[in-house]
Amino acid sequence: MACLKIGPDKKGNVAICENGKVVFYGKEASAPKVDICETLEAKDAEILPGWVCAHTHMYSALCPYGMPAPKNAPQNFTQILERVWWRLDRAIDRDILRASARVYTAECLLQGTTSIVDHHESPDFIEGSLDVLADALEEFGARGILCYGATDRNYGKNEGKRGIDECVRFVKENKRPLVKGTMGLHAQFTCSDDTVKYCGDKARETGVGIQVHVAEGAADVEDAIARGFKSPIDRLEKLGCIVPNSIYIHCIHMSSEETKHGADLGLWFVQNPRSNNGNNVGWPYNLNYAQKVALGVDGWSGDMIVERNAGRELAIKNGDDPINIDHRLYSGWRMMSDFFNAEFGPLNDVENCRRSTKSSVADLRIVDDQGVRHTVVDGKVVVRDRKLVHGDIDQIRKEAQEQANRLWERMVAYPETYEYHYDD
Ligand SMILES: [Zn+2]
Repeated sequence: MACLKIGPDKKGNVAICENGKVVFYGKEASAPKVDICETLEAKDAEILPGWVCAHTHMYSALCPYGMPAPKNAPQNFTQILERVWWRLDRAIDRDILRASARVYTAECLLQGTTSIVDHHESPDFIEGSLDVLADALEEFGARGILCYGATDRNYGKNEGKRGIDECVRFVKENKRPLVKGTMGLHAQFTCSDDTVKYCGDKARETGVGIQVHVAEGAADVEDAIARGFKSPIDRLEKLGCIVPNSIYIHCIHMSSEETKHGADLGLWFVQNPRSNNGNNVGWPYNLNYAQKVALGVDGWSGDMIVERNAGRELAIKNGDDPINIDHRLYSGWRMMSDFFNAEFGPLNDVENCRRSTKSSVADLRIVDDQGVRHTVVDGKVVVRDRKLVHGDIDQIRKEAQEQANRLWERMVAYPETYEYHYDD
């Protein structure tokens, strides 16, 4: 039986992990007598729960490796999508995606982010794409939730169906214990009614939630109204896309009533402060009306301390309370608890804490003055002394640069003017 002892840490506590759970956290003298297979020192360090990144796009991990700017500078959010992201995602093939997912996962673990919730798009490489992402998570030992963000925008309704079918295939076939699948839509405004409805049907059939960008830009709201609905959330609800464990991302242009309504229906929401600021789409004030709100990065680096610090500053700038950003970061643990049906989050010190006797999942970061020293996922050491256990970060970054060079060459072949095929 795999058993890991961590510590003692600077408080004099040790953590004992067995079968992926922290079965004891407290003074060494009170620790149960078990056979220890492996030890991890934590001198002058703290044993803390690993971070959860509640929304990202691993496919965009190569952007820091020299992505060229579009020839015509985008003037609004729709143009940012058309001229940058919707050219990038079509240029992705298997090798590019593999390099993106590997470098993103590896960097997350080195930064103490143990769970990655990913929303994927690669319209010219749909079938099998979720396995490429899942293999990267599994290779380095990370936890994750994956979906393909289906859309009709490039090739019509058949493209939307193929995206949803990829989610269904993955949900049914995936056997990796640390990875879950959900259904996914890119955003309701890039999907026909048939595709949105098909997604809801398949979510209910497979018993999983839906990840979807909602009301990120004003165009999403205008589109829903033009289609005869009150709002994006009204359209998603009427077409059957509000199912348990669904994750609605951004929700900036959503009214307080709709946010409350979504919260009553049990939805998860995700705020992505750096991305929203970068795209100049606004601040999601109405998320203060919901309880289940987590923090994501939307394709930016998975370092949650960087996102939290940027989020706090942006909250102040926008006249909101920065403590909400901290609460959203901690809510990521509750999101994982919902999806993995186990307790995630802070460890319970047996001497000082009587509030819970449940074991926490052993997803941990051991942190000192210099940052993350070790990372543990499911009770297994995945970063030791700031180095990946299952890979060489220099080699992974080198491969990322090689594939990034290919990606930029392929990307310029796609025009910056976009031809839509939403309802074909
Ligand atoms: Zn996103």
